[in-house]
Amino acid sequence: MKNQFVKTFVLFFIISILAISQKKETNILYQHSVINALSAGVYEGDLSLDNLKQFGDFGLGTFNNIDGEMIVLDGKVYQIKTDGIPVEAADNLITPFAAVTFFKSDTTLEIKNPQTLQQIKEKIDAAVPSENYLYAIKVFGEFKRVKTRSVPKQQKPFPDLASVIKDQVTFEKETVSGTVIGFKLPEFIDGVNVKNFHFHFLSKDKNFGGHLLDLVLDKGKIEIGIIKEFRCQLPSTENFTKTKFGKEGSYLQNK
Ligand SMILES: [Zn+2]
Repeated sequence: MKNQFVKTFVLFFIISILAISQKKETNILYQHSVINALSAGVYEGDLSLDNLKQFGDFGLGTFNNIDGEMIVLDGKVYQIKTDGIPVEAADNLITPFAAVTFFKSDTTLEIKNPQTLQQIKEKIDAAVPSENYLYAIKVFGEFKRVKTRSVPKQQKPFPDLASVIKDQVTFEKETVSGTVIGFKLPEFIDGVNVKNFHFHFLSKDKNFGGHLLDLVLDKGKIEIGIIKEFRCQLPSTENFTKTKFGKEGSYLQNK
């Protein structure tokens, strides 16, 4: 009888350890490369999407050769090229820059009447406990209007990101359900990632999305996850090791 009890206890202990070891830690920001590298034209990283997914189920980024905008939502990675149509990206695609987390909401704001992008940012600023933490932001609901963009795939020699963005293609949609995926990051992150707000968008029907330029939210929810832990992995590609970059800054910056 006692022996049976010990066996049961040991089995329970082993199952518990396995459960803990498989638990995904939430709200740790994991990123591949740094935004100043991308700004300078480092469009070849070496992290595959199946590896990226080990570090998060929510986030944003781009693909090697800057082949469109990346959205990570509910564990799936979507690619939006300049045709504006999201497709689920193959696991073997490689990213030169991406930031993901296992999203867990710490604060929820209910939005019951129309809000501009600026008003949404102000609500988030007012709701966060400090300017000095990182935040994963999810905004979902019904949108009156959403404007996004994507960028064309590049060939070597790579131009810098400012030149690529001059050739951006924009998309607009009215009356659309969907999700804004992104981050609010502190001033001190500048150069490593995009300081302040950076958002991408994916419609609920998965037919529309991209890097977010503007929106009006009709009604929905803003969820905020507080991030106090940060990991950054740098590429080993020649494009990364040989490119001189420094103070380009994150001109993706939007106030
Ligand atoms: Zn973006």
